[in-house]
Amino acid sequence: MTTDERYMRRCLQLAANGLQNARPNPMVGAVIVAEGRIIGEGYHVRCGEGHAEVNAFASVKDADSYLLKDATIYVSLEPCAHYGKTPPCAELIVRKGVRRCVVGCVDPFAKVSGRGIAILREAGIEVTVGVLEEECKHLNRRFITFNQLRRPYVTLKWAQSADGFIDHDGKAYAFSTPFTRMLVHKLRSETDAILVGRVTDEREHPLLDVRHWSGRSPMRIVLDSSRPCLGIDFSLPVLQQLMDALYERKIQSLLVEGGATTLRHFIDSGLWDEMRIEISPVLLGKGTPAPALPKAAEVMKRDQIDGNIVLYVKKKE
Ligand SMILES: [Zn+2]
Repeated sequence: MTTDERYMRRCLQLAANGLQNARPNPMVGAVIVAEGRIIGEGYHVRCGEGHAEVNAFASVKDADSYLLKDATIYVSLEPCAHYGKTPPCAELIVRKGVRRCVVGCVDPFAKVSGRGIAILREAGIEVTVGVLEEECKHLNRRFITFNQLRRPYVTLKWAQSADGFIDHDGKAYAFSTPFTRMLVHKLRSETDAILVGRVTDEREHPLLDVRHWSGRSPMRIVLDSSRPCLGIDFSLPVLQQLMDALYERKIQSLLVEGGATTLRHFIDSGLWDEMRIEISPVLLGKGTPAPALPKAAEVMKRDQIDGNIVLYVKKKE
């Protein structure tokens, strides 16, 4: 691991603390290094409050401030260039007079994209872009997908038996363990909206909340032609209208929790980014078959928890 990567990894660690509260802003971490040590660090804690760079500079002790002229600031996402709720961080970095800036990845947000980096370079600061770029992008995959594709980041989630059924002969079956259920509630707390189809809603009356984790409960959506929501016209293609409606409402992430028909619609239309599949060792013999994995599916991670297997699947690029 290079020195730049080591400090960028620290930025990523810091940034991840903003997972629940930075939304709808991206998670960002910043580290200021001089004479081979960290003299300041910070992350974006909450939307509306200071950005990572502001917090990092604020944490530098007065006794260390003379080091700034030779310092390097590491930021996991390109510093902002526009006046939002706070002044632009690119201008703050210029004002503080650091020598070098290392950026994890470019900000896809139209008001920033490349302009933050341009401001720094014009001021004579040496800029390096793309250190741990894939990890920096992955951390903000919801924010990036929302801004680039103008739709929420879609995660499909289901649980199934070892023999491939998502229910037992049409009746709901509890595949998860107390611990994996808690993980699902954690995932929900990190998501802006959850969707289920009509059949799942009628059969299981899912609460879709986060009662086994702390944090806010996501917006709950039931896709039901007899109870249209979000202004969707069911005589027209539904999923694209849904994506547009959620984009308008600034919903950056959507968790689709079934059932089989709804999941298949998303898979067939290619409107998904990630899947979380929990497989219990139980054999049920009959039931509703789990969706088949599409060709574009690639397993990123495989966890074994309480005897269940949890697969994290992403779409091949
Ligand atoms: Zn900023």
